[in-house]
Amino acid sequence: MDISGLAERVTRGERRALARAITLIESGREDHRALATELMEALRKAGRQALRIGLSGTPGVGKSTFIESFGLMLTGRGLKVAVLAVDPSSARSGGSILGDKTRMEQLSRDPGAFIRPSPSQTHLGGVARRTREAVALCEAAGFDVVLIETVGVGQSETVVAEMSDLFVLLLAPAGGDELQGVKRGIMEMADLILVNKADGDLKPAAMRTRSDYAGALRLLRKRPQDPEGFPKALTVSALEEQGLEKAWDEMQALVDWRRETGHFDARRAAQARYWFAEEVRQALLARLERPEARAAMARLSDEVASGATTPARAAQHMLDRHLDQ
Ligand code: GDP
Repeated sequence: MDISGLAERVTRGERRALARAITLIESGREDHRALATELMEALRKAGRQALRIGLSGTPGVGKSTFIESFGLMLTGRGLKVAVLAVDPSSARSGGSILGDKTRMEQLSRDPGAFIRPSPSQTHLGGVARRTREAVALCEAAGFDVVLIETVGVGQSETVVAEMSDLFVLLLAPAGGDELQGVKRGIMEMADLILVNKADGDLKPAAMRTRSDYAGALRLLRKRPQDPEGFPKALTVSALEEQGLEKAWDEMQALVDWRRETGHFDARRAAQARYWFAEEVRQALLARLERPEARAAMARLSDEVASGATTPARAAQHMLDRHLDQ
C-alpha cells in the first residue's frame, strides 16, 4: 500500500482517501496496524488543527438532532465539519446506539460535512484509539470542527473528554425541580451544559433546568483552564434551531481564551501523555489475551488455588516469562 500517496490525498481533503484511511486505522490486522502507524506519523507533520468538540448525552436528549442543526449552522458559515462517535454499545454487543444510518440525514448529504459511525465489535479501548486516530485524520484532511459524540453511559465520556478540546453535555428539561442523575464526575468534565428542547411546552422546564445546573456548576471547584463565567449552562432547541449561534459563540470565546493563556496546548499535551500511557496499557492487555498467555494464566491460577505457589510469585513468573515480548 502506498502510504505516502494516501497521506497526500488525505491532506488534499479527498473524501474517499479519508474514508479509506479510517478503514485502515480501524483494521485489527497486524500488518494494517503497522501501515496505520506509518500513516499517522506521515500526517502528524501536516500540523493542522481542528477544534475538537466532545458531545455527550443520554439516548433521547437530542444528540443527533443537535448535531444535525449545529453542524448545518457551521457548514452554512463555510466551516468543514466531521462527526465521529464513540459508542460503548457497539463495543459490547456489536449493536449500535449511535450508528443508525438514518440519523443526521441532511448533514450527511452536505458537501461540507463528513460523518463516520463508531467502529463496531471491539472493546472500548480499541474504539477509543480508533476514534482518536480518526480525529487526527479528519484534522489532517482540513476539517475545521470535529464533533465526537458519545452516549452518557459508563466510561465513554472520559474517553471522549480525553480527545476533545471542549466537552459539551447535552441535557433534556427535567420534570421536577431536582437535578437529573448526572454524575458529579461528568459535571466536572463539562465546559458547557446545553439544556435542549427549550421550545413549546418544554420551554419553562428547560429554563428551570438550566438555572439549576448553572447553580450546580457554580458550586464546583474553580478550574484553572476556565475564564470567568465558565463552565456555563445554556438552553437550546435543536429542533427549532434556537440558541445554536449563542452556543457556538460561547465555545469560541472559551477556546480563544484557552489559546491565549496556553491552556489549549497544555490540554492537548496532557492528552498526548494520557494516550501514550493508554497505548502501553492496551498493548500489555492484548498480550494477556494471546493463547499462550491465557494457557499460562490458567495453569498458574490452578497452582495458586492448590497452594503450590503464592499469588505474588505466580504473577512475577507470568510477567517475566509470558508477557515480555
Ligand atoms: P439522541 O438519542 O440523543 O440522538 O436523540 P434524537 O436526536 O434522536 O432525539 C430524540 C427525540 O427528541 C426525537 O423525537 C427528537 O425529535 C426530539 N428532539 C430533539 N431535539 C429536540 C428539541 O430541540 N426540541 C424538541 N421538542 N424535541 C427534540
